[in-house]
Amino acid sequence: MMKRLARRMGILPLLLAPAAACAFVRVGDGWDGPGRNPHVVHYYFGDFAALQSTDHAAAKAAFQRAMRAWSEATSGNLTFSEVFEPNQPNTIDIVWIDEPGHFPDNGVAHSYYAAPPNPESHAGDIHLNPRRQWAAGDQVASSAFQIERVAVHEIGHALGMDHSGISSAVMYGTVQTGEVFSGLSADDIEGICTLYLCSPRQPNPVPLALIGLYGIAHARRCRHRP
Ligand SMILES: [Zn+2]
Ligand SMILES: [Zn+2]
Repeated sequence: MMKRLARRMGILPLLLAPAAACAFVRVGDGWDGPGRNPHVVHYYFGDFAALQSTDHAAAKAAFQRAMRAWSEATSGNLTFSEVFEPNQPNTIDIVWIDEPGHFPDNGVAHSYYAAPPNPESHAGDIHLNPRRQWAAGDQVASSAFQIERVAVHEIGHALGMDHSGISSAVMYGTVQTGEVFSGLSADDIEGICTLYLCSPRQPNPVPLALIGLYGIAHARRCRHRP
């Protein structure tokens, strides 16, 4: 039950893809609560012992690069700060889990959405499957999953994003071996910017009229998608 809202990605493309072809989908309000605010999310590197295909320092650096991509998309308003204790609130625990049955169908990874809707302290946590072949950096064998690519996707869930219907989006529901992260798509950035503040911080609040117009424009565009 606890994992009701967990998401996993895999290589069974269409089975896991959302039915709607609409763009980004958000879940809840993000760690910062309602509205779009700056926020500092904590992360904790848990047990990496089961990861044998990749150097652990390189794997952690890959996660930090993935976090930077989301941070840059928000003009630095979303930041990530490492903590050294597990199971803390407002914290993404990143763990490699080698337990029989933990990943049905040998899924690549899964994660919990931000709180709410997922409860603390599991909210935001990311579990990865060490029985898959992994690699970090730009040179990835065609049989390996690139850690950066999967990390960006799972961190997106941990920040409050669901799967997008846009196949070029990092938040699309599938990933292939050999696929390399080459930046967030416009759809990913538009999605995260509905949850967190993305513009450089202004001394004055954005007029309410502008927020209203933004919402209408997005709703229209979604409706017209096939
Ligand atoms: Zn996913
Ligand atoms: Zn899990």
